[in-house]
Amino acid sequence: MPEEKELVCVNCPKGCRIIVTMEGKKILSIKGYSCENGKQYAEEEMICPMRVLTTTVKINGAPLRVLPVMSNGPIPLERMEEAMEEVRKIHVDAPVKMNQVLVSHFLGTDVDLIASRSMTKKEA
Ligand code: SF4
Repeated sequence: MPEEKELVCVNCPKGCRIIVTMEGKKILSIKGYSCENGKQYAEEEMICPMRVLTTTVKINGAPLRVLPVMSNGPIPLERMEEAMEEVRKIHVDAPVKMNQVLVSHFLGTDVDLIASRSMTKKEA
């Protein structure tokens, strides 16, 4: 039986309300978008939602104990738990520069895990 799902497009401030009619995993119709980006967003949200990962990793020899990090592109939402397990294993050494690649091809994807900020070495 078809089911309607409502999304708010987050691709621009207009925030269009998009109605997607699904039957199981099949998209029957998409309404309410104002541009192709919105349509693509709705399709992706229904079939394979993606998110940018933002979290922290442990850092040695810095004034703070953790370093903010992020993926430099979206990864599948369903892999977030696996991503967090990997993140918990990571320890980096100060100094670190903003946007420095900490793990390339994170989880075997085309996305890298990068530092969200610089962090200097702790003064002795
Ligand atoms: S559908 Fe297009 S116009 Fe509407 S919020 Fe999304 S990106 Fe903006």
